[in-house]
Amino acid sequence: GGTKIAQEMETISGKQNTGGSRILVFVRLRPMTKKEKEGGSRSCVRILNRRDVYLTELATEHDYLRLKRVRGRHFTFDASFPDSTTQKEVYSTTTAELVEAVLRGRNGSVFCYGATGAGKTYTMLGTVENPGVMVLAIKDLFNKIKQRSFDGNHVVHLSYLEVYNETVKDLLSPGRPLVLREDKQGIMAAGLTQYRAYSTDEVMALLQLGNQNRTTEPTRANETSSRSHAILQVVVEYRVKDASNNVVNRVGKLSLIDLAGSERALATDQRTLRALEGANINKSLLALSSCINALVEGKKHIPYRNSKLTQLLKDSLGGPCNTVMIANISPSNLSFGETQNTLHWADRAKEIRTKACDANEEILQLPESETDKAKLLLELQKEN
Ligand code: ADP
Ligand code: MG
Repeated sequence: GGTKIAQEMETISGKQNTGGSRILVFVRLRPMTKKEKEGGSRSCVRILNRRDVYLTELATEHDYLRLKRVRGRHFTFDASFPDSTTQKEVYSTTTAELVEAVLRGRNGSVFCYGATGAGKTYTMLGTVENPGVMVLAIKDLFNKIKQRSFDGNHVVHLSYLEVYNETVKDLLSPGRPLVLREDKQGIMAAGLTQYRAYSTDEVMALLQLGNQNRTTEPTRANETSSRSHAILQVVVEYRVKDASNNVVNRVGKLSLIDLAGSERALATDQRTLRALEGANINKSLLALSSCINALVEGKKHIPYRNSKLTQLLKDSLGGPCNTVMIANISPSNLSFGETQNTLHWADRAKEIRTKACDANEEILQLPESETDKAKLLLELQKEN
């Protein structure tokens, strides 16, 4: 019936959310690996109340109980996930709402960052038994489309790309590096595969395959590079009638980003940043931290142009977008420095404000002939 259209119209006319909002920041602690346990690692992170993260070099239970208060730092985030948290819980807390918004023509992005080995790829891609955010998001997307009988109207396209050493690679169809072009919708990678997805079944295999195409470091055979960034983009497009009876095309874009290892690359002050620039460190990650610093400080000029990654993510960072960051950390005291760095940076990311996130829509030129026009409107009514 017409109720769906009425609901959609409400969303179109009800653009009250113009103040922008802050980035949501989450922390996920992974379990200690077998290797860490065997190496005698102790845990230096505690998560309490699903929000508070305590980082300390004093790590035994005895120390903790004796001192009651741990020495070290305390951070608090929108939610902090202890090592027992399931993939589904992580998905539903961090990303489910973004998927909902993308179905209504808004942009959303989820970044995973942290040191190499901290659990970024596990969180984003996961395994066949325990699929991660990328897969669960697509599953949820298709479920929601079905539940609302939106199918036939919503069209879903996927693209999966890598930024490695300032080259952009299509992970769904490896070949020559892609060139970035600017069009009216922003920066895009020319020739990037836009895979039309019809169901979830095919997607997990597709993403696993894509992940195998990620660049591996020559010195670390079989291991995906710690310097490779992977970006999955899910574009959902549909048509709807607005309040003035125009047919509008709505496009929602969800970007899910598995960043390169953040070790030594996340400078929070200019001096460290300059020192790092001298070293051969991931340029895209440095540029990302510069952009985030500039956004946090409310600077007018945000240096998006400094790297491929920041060009690609321009509309996901400072643009009209719902943004989520997941900081991945290891519990091991051997990773204390990295964990401290990651948490410090995550704490800072809480300051970033994004612009108001309205639906991306374009009024469609209706067919000239009255019969074609009537046919199209009828179709839309049926679909909704
Ligand atoms: P990164 O992508 O940050 O370098 P990975 O996601 O590859 O790190 O994780 C490193 C190792 O830890 C992998 O073997 C992965 O399966 C495991 N791991 C990471 N997070 C978890 C988790 N939450 N539960 C179980 N195993 C995990
Ligand atoms: Mg990884």
